[in-house]
Amino acid sequence: MKVTFLGTGTSVGIPSIGCDCDTCLSDDERDKRLRASILIEHEERKILVDASTDFRYQALRCGLKHLDAILFTHAHADHCFGLDDTRPIMFRNKIEIPCYATAVTWEGLRRVYSYAFAPAVSGVPRIIPHTINDRFKLFGLEILPLTVMHGPLPVTAFRINDFAYVTDCHEIPEAALAQLRGLEVLVIDALRFKKHPTHMTLDQALAYIKIVKPHRALLTHISHDIKHAETSGHLPENVEIAYDGLEVTSS
Ligand SMILES: [Zn+2]
Ligand SMILES: [Zn+2]
Ligand SMILES: [Zn+2]
Repeated sequence: MKVTFLGTGTSVGIPSIGCDCDTCLSDDERDKRLRASILIEHEERKILVDASTDFRYQALRCGLKHLDAILFTHAHADHCFGLDDTRPIMFRNKIEIPCYATAVTWEGLRRVYSYAFAPAVSGVPRIIPHTINDRFKLFGLEILPLTVMHGPLPVTAFRINDFAYVTDCHEIPEAALAQLRGLEVLVIDALRFKKHPTHMTLDQALAYIKIVKPHRALLTHISHDIKHAETSGHLPENVEIAYDGLEVTSS
């Protein structure tokens, strides 16, 4: 399967409005980070993980015309406010898009998108909600939802075959950690250098990478504290900072 990083930034996006720090003013394209989301492509199927605030621009930028499913990690604004912008895909292709989330995440999504669940309303996102709590098959891929902690909020990490996407968390509980062994590619939250109550620092992410030992690790959900070129030089060999537009393959 192919994974494209549609966005690798923290909730405010980089550059951050009004900020004149080195990263926000950087000319390096890798320092321009839209809100975190990935697109998984497998045998002609396209699965979006989170519909970010920047979904519209992300879809236009990569020429996305179709979606077969959306997986949600949690219902924070930066991960779900783009769901409304998936409507052209639904309308043009005359489809309803199956969406997968845990009961906790659906609670948040139903609050934000109450109008999409109201009967007989037109012009709203057409979704087919699926509540997940255990492994399931999707277009031939084995998808294992794992619970990680984002402050007090349980967030869903996804292991898909030998690839895992672990965004928005400050802690990976033992049960999830046990399911992250033997990965070809691990994508993991690394917000900044300084401690944060709901996200991992770069050091915390590196510590988990050391435990899990993926073949390749990619950092995401990055704030302006981390400048791509500067920090990249100090990372272990199997660790890279992901950037918008990066494509990776995994089995
Ligand atoms: Zn986030
Ligand atoms: Zn800045
Ligand atoms: Zn979040």
